[in-house]
Amino acid sequence: MILKPFENLKIADFSNSETEFMMKKALEKVAVEFGKEYDIVIGGKAYKSDKKIKSINPSKTDEIVGYTNSATEELAELAVEKAWEAFKTWSKTPAYKRAEFLLKTADILRKKRFEFGATMIYEVGKNWVEADADFAEAVDFLEFYAREMLRYASEQPLVRIPTEKNELRYIPLGVGAIIPPWNFPLAILVGMTSAAIVTGNTVVLKPASDSTVIAAKFFEALQEAGLPDGVVNFLPGSGALAGEYLVKHPKIRFISFTGSKDVGLRINELAARPQPGQIWIKRTILEMGGKDAIIVDETADLDSAAEGIVTSAFGFQGQKCSAGSRAIIVKDVYDKLVEKVIEKAEKIKMGDVRFRENWLGPVINHGAFEKIKAYIEIGKNEGNLIFGGNTREELGGFFIEPTIFKDVDGNARIAQEEIFGPVLAIIKANDFEEALHIANSTEYGLTGALYSKSRDRIEKAKEEFHVGNLYFNRKCTGALVGVHPFGGFNMSGTDSKAGGRDYLGLFLQAKAISEKI
Ligand code: NAP
Repeated sequence: MILKPFENLKIADFSNSETEFMMKKALEKVAVEFGKEYDIVIGGKAYKSDKKIKSINPSKTDEIVGYTNSATEELAELAVEKAWEAFKTWSKTPAYKRAEFLLKTADILRKKRFEFGATMIYEVGKNWVEADADFAEAVDFLEFYAREMLRYASEQPLVRIPTEKNELRYIPLGVGAIIPPWNFPLAILVGMTSAAIVTGNTVVLKPASDSTVIAAKFFEALQEAGLPDGVVNFLPGSGALAGEYLVKHPKIRFISFTGSKDVGLRINELAARPQPGQIWIKRTILEMGGKDAIIVDETADLDSAAEGIVTSAFGFQGQKCSAGSRAIIVKDVYDKLVEKVIEKAEKIKMGDVRFRENWLGPVINHGAFEKIKAYIEIGKNEGNLIFGGNTREELGGFFIEPTIFKDVDGNARIAQEEIFGPVLAIIKANDFEEALHIANSTEYGLTGALYSKSRDRIEKAKEEFHVGNLYFNRKCTGALVGVHPFGGFNMSGTDSKAGGRDYLGLFLQAKAISEKI
């Protein structure tokens, strides 16, 4: 199977009137489907349950994007059983055929590009560009992992000896639980699911409860691509019930999770405890939170730094694991840069993201809204509130102004804890050395950026800025599949790199085979 080299899908240009028109049409089409009910699907068979998950538009909370049936323990049990049944044939399906399913799914997705985008705009409050970037990343994962699988399935280099014929084969693990977050409701879910199945595993996919409709639409695309029944079992349900049931299940071989630190640690602990009848150590791939920093020194281009700080802090309302929620600025340029950051923040337009002109949308749900509000109150005692700080319920959804605190201590709670909202803590450092020390002084280690023209400092940061994704003179968000393999250190996860060449290895085990000749 020969494929053209992988290329990232370009983000749509909505300044083109035709492209803008297509998104408007898609927004109308998706709105017509509001309130639709989506089933649980196990082994190709649809199931309903008494409990439904209600998916609400966070921009306009009286709009219900859809309902999904919510799993019971019995259905979770059935899903594991059906996944094992499907494993028997799927694990033996040639790698190139499994890769073909991913490529076919990517084709189906591309045809529905704006429908997927519109669904994310309504379901999680992404602005047009953020929604399209999420879509493009999902397609990239499918295309990238299809190619990667062919590489893993090809002959692996070994040292030759004259007396034996040796080979190394990568084989699948078994049945896995896929537990993604809502903040990249398509990209991350697609990435985790496609990596698991292209490697020959079968899975139970439990989407995040805030983004079940987009998950259901992806599942429909898999079905349209002709994926055999039971390879992916679609099991929406609560994390505490369905999620934990899967994590503890003795027949679950691996857990691929992306989400918060607290849930990741709980999964790690539960998965480590062997259950009666369990014959393996469960593998956990845990991609968790961040408290990411942008450092700016006195040599930096301050306009570009201000742009990078504002985009990284407030893009998708700060609800990215890579969000630059800390800006650490050396004292010589502190006041000047803070002024520039405020000037940029003043230009942000907030409102219902179905309208293209609104860049800042709502936060995901009521719980997040209350949590972020509480952090803003904490911030008032920890720094100087210099911008925003108010909630804007009158707009019809969970809106919170972009909020900036300055003069925050590096050890303050708003500088240490992941708020996951539009709240930026600005910290003053005496010099670059101190800034680097502050940047490294959290339990996380996901992304970071340095704005500087000093080659020595850039080289020093390469050595000492302890994050999985480090950027220079650019924002700290927006990793591209294949270009910036993504994943962090310390409490940010188990050091995996989504969209990188090692990633599929996490879903495989290697068998060395030796024959005397
Ligand atoms: P979350 O609350 O931890 O939930 C993530 C997933 O885990 C959801 O599907 C959730 O289901 C499920 N879950 C919750 N409790 C569970 C339990 N006890 N057992 C098993 N599963 C459980 O995180 P989130 O709010 O969706 O996502 C935001 C977090 O993800 C942030 O911390 C962000 O930094 C992190 N994130 C990290 C990366 C990365 O690559 N490192 C990327 C994106 C996001 P329910 O929705 O039903 O609760």
